[in-house]
Amino acid sequence: MKAWSARPVPVLPGEAPLPVVQDTRLRRRAELPRQDRASLYVCGITPYDATHMGHAATYVAFDLLHRAWLDAGTPVDYVQNVTDVDDPLLERATATGVDWRVLAEEQTDLFRTDMSALNVLPPQHYVGATESVAWIVPAVEGLVARGLAYPVPGTDGEPDGDVYFDVEAAGTLPADDGDAWVLGDVSHLTPEQMLPLFAERGGDPDRPGKRNRLDPLLWRVRRPDEPFWDGASLGEGRPGWHIECSLIALQHLPAPFTVQGGGSDLVFPHHEMGAGHCWALTGRPMAQHFLHTGMVGLDGEKMSKSKGNLVLVSALRAEGVDPAVIRAAILAHRYSEDWSWTAPGLAAAAARVDAWRRAAQVAPEDSAAPVLQQVRAALADDLDTPAALSALDDWAAGALTGGTGRTSAEDGRLVRDLVEARLGVVL
Ligand SMILES: [Zn+2]
Repeated sequence: MKAWSARPVPVLPGEAPLPVVQDTRLRRRAELPRQDRASLYVCGITPYDATHMGHAATYVAFDLLHRAWLDAGTPVDYVQNVTDVDDPLLERATATGVDWRVLAEEQTDLFRTDMSALNVLPPQHYVGATESVAWIVPAVEGLVARGLAYPVPGTDGEPDGDVYFDVEAAGTLPADDGDAWVLGDVSHLTPEQMLPLFAERGGDPDRPGKRNRLDPLLWRVRRPDEPFWDGASLGEGRPGWHIECSLIALQHLPAPFTVQGGGSDLVFPHHEMGAGHCWALTGRPMAQHFLHTGMVGLDGEKMSKSKGNLVLVSALRAEGVDPAVIRAAILAHRYSEDWSWTAPGLAAAAARVDAWRRAAQVAPEDSAAPVLQQVRAALADDLDTPAALSALDDWAAGALTGGTGRTSAEDGRLVRDLVEARLGVVL
């Protein structure tokens, strides 16, 4: 499907280092590899709700990574999905009496508008689950044929034939290079830790007939009043959530691709199972590195629809908040940490962006090159945006209280380019 548009990225002088990043799977910091092209997959939205600050922070975080690669001279193949058919979407559609396709279309459109306003660079491939069924069906058939997936008989009103992934069988596949997937490879959780998360995040540990309670759904056969697609030998139905991302990634990116990204609530089961699917399908790891963003709360509370405390990007924009200020408020926090959206945080971001804008008008001569170097160094350190912002604050304070030195329009322009190219903030 169509992605969105963002401003062209200014090209900065010199070359930036590739960042060191905190890798969830490796449980350590890792240098990103030097490659002709980097490849990035970030899990997209389920379009049943408007973009809230947690979504925005995740896509802004991976936008920083995207921009870091570009500044290091590495082009990026970026893929993002839209889970445009899934249980939560269908439940919301039923509850509100809106056709699920209309709901998905509306919310995907709002997301695109929000991303464009936040100047998040678009993926080259923006792919809906509904567009990927034709790739998923033969892949699931192949897993069934190899004994790595199995249909479950119907019980208690559930029809025959839902297909599950056999996590234990997949975990025994031999590896050539010692990089095999076993359950826990990405998340490092024990089965006891996995079970409640699996149940909470779309899994069905108590479904009778499963070989392992943690086996995830690959194909859900047709139910009355649910959308369905032709599943060939699987029967009519729709795909499970994890296999959707695995196949969209494999369709457009090499295995392993460079970085799999998403919110920390996707580590298990979503990225664990996605990696297992990719391993079972290709004998290769899904991604070289797994990066996860922290959760965003509101005034110290978890942000959730049920609490009614979602901060929506579209609502802030409707109030007239400058998207550059929204971005700056997000960037005041390290991407990997949990943090809270607050009114003082937004006010501080507005003051900061205002100071940078004023300072760019009176930039001291020869002041841009040092701040360019400082911002690049900060972002090379696992995208340390607080340090990058602090370097810019110091530069702005110096410019605004600068005394008698000469000002330079050229330096002002370079800092504006720096802030836009690396932070995506338009001054
Ligand atoms: Zn995903």
